Amino acid sequence: MTQLTLSTVLSNPNHSPVKSQSKPSAHTYVHKRVTKSQIENKRTRSQRARERLATKGHLTRLAVGLGEVELADKIDRCHSRLSVLTCGRHIARIIPNFTCEFRLCPDCGRRRSRRLQSKYLPMMRSFMLHNKVTPVHLVLTQTHRAETRKQSIGRIKDAFTRLQRRVFWNEYFKGGTWSLEFTKDKNGLHHTHLHIIGFRRKFFDIELLRGEWLAATGDSHVLHLKPILDIATGLQEVVKYVSKPLDIRRFGAADLREFLGLKNMRMFGTFGEFREFCKDFEPSDNDASAVGELESLSRDLVEGCACPQCDAPLFDLRMSKNELPQFYEQIEASSPDRVRKRAH
Ligand SMILES: [Zn+2]
Ligand SMILES: [Zn+2]
Repeated sequence: MTQLTLSTVLSNPNHSPVKSQSKPSAHTYVHKRVTKSQIENKRTRSQRARERLATKGHLTRLAVGLGEVELADKIDRCHSRLSVLTCGRHIARIIPNFTCEFRLCPDCGRRRSRRLQSKYLPMMRSFMLHNKVTPVHLVLTQTHRAETRKQSIGRIKDAFTRLQRRVFWNEYFKGGTWSLEFTKDKNGLHHTHLHIIGFRRKFFDIELLRGEWLAATGDSHVLHLKPILDIATGLQEVVKYVSKPLDIRRFGAADLREFLGLKNMRMFGTFGEFREFCKDFEPSDNDASAVGELESLSRDLVEGCACPQCDAPLFDLRMSKNELPQFYEQIEASSPDRVRKRAH
């Protein structure tokens, strides 16, 4: 089958997979002032794709500035040519030419967080089923100090290890997962959070937990706890920090250099009985079906298969990274519910 490119599809209206429409300017989003909550909740896929491009451009420039030419080249090549499997109205799968696997790369981060979700969701569901535990999202924080990022991370991880050794913790929690989030405060001090999905055995008074965290850290009792109603959503929320551990657009050359020094640091892990459970986990038929909700299903899709969302045949559209946001825009414009979501 002949290979389609985005430009052939765009230039031939009869072949166009999407209804003809006026092309939105590639720079529209730049001029749109949006509030923080809009940024968090209402960004369209095209906007997010543009942000990923901007982030990667920023990272590439920082890497060049530090003389990390090889890294800059890898980030630049990552997802630069794409094979997009689409029915014209939905995107079933995107296959990149190359992935840099750099930890701050937003494209590779998305892939990593999807992989984590596919891996851990079936285990979490099975663990909850077998153990009569309920999941909670716990955010542990620590006081700000003048220290390096590495020291800040080491300090909170050590405190969490101490917390896990405490009688209270073992009485109420049966393990879970942790992931790291980094920010900096107004004064430039590192602020590191631990996002925990904890499998709770029974209810407890949150003040008790604050006291335990204070005992583990020596100086912080600040934490947030909320129940997780849907484990898939809860997991998605904590793994997003794996793909986006910090706001890279506020990231300078010194930050990148420091980050490069953290090479083998883990940003996600399991603990307690859940950790042991994961080691021995073999999915049953039921558990395996949970994976299908995520992108694993799409892995088997090829050109000519039916679109999972509308059954129309999929075709393979080749495009560059710079063309992807525009393609998302067309898809958003052709789909009624997307149109409503777009801010006018
Ligand atoms: Zn990458
Ligand atoms: Zn479709």
